Amino acid sequence: MNKPKVSGFFKKHLETMPPEKRLEYLDRKLRGIVLYAYHRSAAFRSKMDAAELIPKQIRTIKDLEKIPITKKSDLVRLQRENPPLGGFEGVPVQELRRIYVSPGPIHEPGEKDYEELAWAQAMIAGGFRPGDIAINTFSYHMVPFALHMVDNTLHKIGCITIPTGVGNTEQQVHILRHLKVHAFCGTPSFLLAIAEKAEEMGLNLKKDLSLRVGFVAAEMLPESLRSKLEGKFGMTVRQSYGTADIGCLGYECIEKNGMHLPDDKIVEIVNPETGKQLRTGQVGEIVATTFNKVYPLIRFGTGDLSFLTDAPCPCGRTSPRLVRILGRVDQMTKVRSLFIHPGQVQEIVSRYTVIGRYQVVVTRKEDKDAMTFRIELNQEVFQREALRGEIERSIRDVMNLRGEVDFVTKGTIPEGAKIIEDRRSWE
Ligand SMILES: [Zn+2]
Repeated sequence: MNKPKVSGFFKKHLETMPPEKRLEYLDRKLRGIVLYAYHRSAAFRSKMDAAELIPKQIRTIKDLEKIPITKKSDLVRLQRENPPLGGFEGVPVQELRRIYVSPGPIHEPGEKDYEELAWAQAMIAGGFRPGDIAINTFSYHMVPFALHMVDNTLHKIGCITIPTGVGNTEQQVHILRHLKVHAFCGTPSFLLAIAEKAEEMGLNLKKDLSLRVGFVAAEMLPESLRSKLEGKFGMTVRQSYGTADIGCLGYECIEKNGMHLPDDKIVEIVNPETGKQLRTGQVGEIVATTFNKVYPLIRFGTGDLSFLTDAPCPCGRTSPRLVRILGRVDQMTKVRSLFIHPGQVQEIVSRYTVIGRYQVVVTRKEDKDAMTFRIELNQEVFQREALRGEIERSIRDVMNLRGEVDFVTKGTIPEGAKIIEDRRSWE
């Protein structure tokens, strides 16, 4: 495999700050953006007024708990009432360069000078270097990611961009080959489609192509897919996480042990019911605050579940890391007063290679919550009762709850079924 660059930072003084310095730094940036948004963003002002808050009551990250969370559905509603940006903008709309349109529909502003640091931190951490020729295969139409975030960032870090957008796989292979492209930006599934097409065209991916690094986002990246892609191309693939509204909220470094928080956002993990911050290691909703003066979203709820670690990372970056994305908040549910989420189910299932499709069903039996793991086996198992016992022990280990295993015949669980299905009714 081509050796990736393992050292190097985009903003070393920020990325290697001692944790207490980082807190001071973020608190100071927070006070600045709260004061700014209070005076410039009508939507933020009315949110503060409704909560009877003034900027000087928000001094630290802990104080953010006082501000109600803005959900995606709030954005859609307020933007419909007051287009294009619902009053969340921090500059007059006339000063924007572009307005993007994402599914929802939801609008995002494109400022004249793109200043976000985070995606640049992400690409450098993943091994992109100035002078790399990069193919940007994210979709350039309507949505902000390819044009606004990725294209601007490649320019910022000194890469040369080929703006291919998505699709035209065969042509993309020709471009990769003839322009000796080093770097890929796109979804993991599209990189796999390119690999398969190139193989079909009779190319040797390692010899005929020059791909060295990949920046992937917008989809889950299972480790099995990552190693398949890295092995086929002889490249390094690193993932980042973010949303169209607020930008990058986490990126993997070369160590691939979770996603470092960038330095131009505040990321909280909160209890989705109360909005209160959780401790490191506890699973909750990712809520983010940006310092972007054009679109100062403060306490934006992503609807995604994760948890943080602050264990030191050998890369030298000191920011905490999102360990992985565990699913959506609306898939999280409470069973006997404990939250359960799809990430736990996947952890249990990953211990048993004989498990095919699976689904957890939550019901009420005699006024008590009951949890059943419906499992299809992908091969004949002769000691089913022993396996049942083992899986039920794993459920207790991971979830701190008792669950029953129900082996069902193949084909019972539909493709794309919800991982956790809540069938309780509360009449
Ligand atoms: Zn690291």
